[in-house]
Amino acid sequence: MLNPFDRLGKPKADIKKSAHAPKAPARPRAKAAGAKKVGLKPADGWHKRNFFTEVLIPSLFTKRAGKHKAPEFPELKGNEVGVTWIGHASFLLQLGGHNLLIDPNWAKWLKVIKRVRHPGLKLHDLPAIDLVLVTHAHFDHLDRKTLRQVAAEQPIVVPFEVGNLVHDLGFHSVHELHYWEHFAHGPLRITLTPCHHWGARLLHDSHRGFGGFIIEAGGRTIFHCGDTAYFDGFREIGARHKIDVALLPIGAYDPPSGREVHMNPEEAVQAFHDLGAQWMVPMHYGSFRLSYEPVDEPVERLRACARQHGIEDRVMIVPEGEPRVF
Ligand SMILES: [Zn+2]
Repeated sequence: MLNPFDRLGKPKADIKKSAHAPKAPARPRAKAAGAKKVGLKPADGWHKRNFFTEVLIPSLFTKRAGKHKAPEFPELKGNEVGVTWIGHASFLLQLGGHNLLIDPNWAKWLKVIKRVRHPGLKLHDLPAIDLVLVTHAHFDHLDRKTLRQVAAEQPIVVPFEVGNLVHDLGFHSVHELHYWEHFAHGPLRITLTPCHHWGARLLHDSHRGFGGFIIEAGGRTIFHCGDTAYFDGFREIGARHKIDVALLPIGAYDPPSGREVHMNPEEAVQAFHDLGAQWMVPMHYGSFRLSYEPVDEPVERLRACARQHGIEDRVMIVPEGEPRVF
């Protein structure tokens, strides 16, 4: 008899564990690499505001803004790099003759949180994807439904202990990395970097890794920060890698729990300086209201801060779905 649940599962891909996984427990190594884990305890006074009535309910009555752009991908010359922000933390990167997706999320809802801006491209307008990267297991970054649609026998790279969330979606292989480890794929070299965040998808799976990615090909380097509070590790990332484009989060800095889990725009500019990167592309704002700050505030504060620092020409605030060539 046909099993009605069969269509949900695809053959499970091999999970290639980090070379260090069997030797040492992940946690001390993460600490040694400079990663910092945020605790679960809310900040004092978190209960004095009501996220439900102040943010969630109003966003239910907000019409979804933005629109899908027609797919127009640039023809890249030499070692040029194409960067297309899809929305939230999702990016299409084109470099070294390869197409990469990072944290792809086309979901209209994160449980009860409504997406208030459309993704910049339709999923089926994407070019063939050669490699997928996911920075951590949080629902806004690891969307199993989107990943299942994207999976077409290509490899996927995730931090340590995240592989079992993506191995049954149709990827060829799953590669788990520990901090500063790398995965090579053709001309691409992908390195996991530490950050200050946490990785549990639910409550009790706090063993899962979390981080950002350095993506290198043909002498060019892109840094996708993942999610992080401001921390002193940016200096080391910048010392180890000469970064052309830093994709940095600027929103969700006033979360309901009051915990320090995401950077604000001024901290992102400080991180940009610490990294010594050439250009910054902001992300993690506008698509999902995860936090109390008004929707337009992150970009306004980023513009003002970039002006103060005289770096307006290096901070590229890009609309979703419009590729930029670097
Ligand atoms: Zn997160």
